[in-house]
Amino acid sequence: MRDPECVFCKIVAGEIPSASVLDRDNVYAFLDLNPVRQGHALVIPKSHYPTLLDLDPGLAADLLRAQQDVARAVMLATGADGVNLGLNLGEAAGQVVFHAHYHIIPRFHEDGLRLWPQTPYPSQDEMNRLAGEIRARLG
Ligand code: AMP
Ligand code: ZN
Repeated sequence: MRDPECVFCKIVAGEIPSASVLDRDNVYAFLDLNPVRQGHALVIPKSHYPTLLDLDPGLAADLLRAQQDVARAVMLATGADGVNLGLNLGEAAGQVVFHAHYHIIPRFHEDGLRLWPQTPYPSQDEMNRLAGEIRARLG
């Protein structure tokens, strides 16, 4: 499955160059050309799925294994103390390339990055109410 307009499909096909770090049967990983920190890598299915929600569940295990392996290798290669794994699902969440991909971002103690500004719920009731709404939609 391939989208002729998709930049990541072109990368998988070798039509656009990429700094490859991992190449498996159905999964590919390469460096983001505009990294949050150097060593920031992207892990993608080779087939075209616009978002995480479209992804074939059968691929999930292979993608997760690739994320583990790339995260470990990025930490070793950069000396990072940890990584953030992230996926932007939808334009509102910052997704720009609509070929599902995980970001692996090296992190260092005291690196000053604050990726998840957080705010507590106004009340425990509101938190419980929303949890119930979500549970109801999980069947
Ligand atoms: P997202 O905002 O989650 O869709 O992330 C898309 C990411 O792809 C961005 O971090 C871009 O810097 C990165 N990107 C776009 N085109 C390329 C490319 N040709 N090679 C490497 N990374 C790319
Ligand atoms: Zn694609």
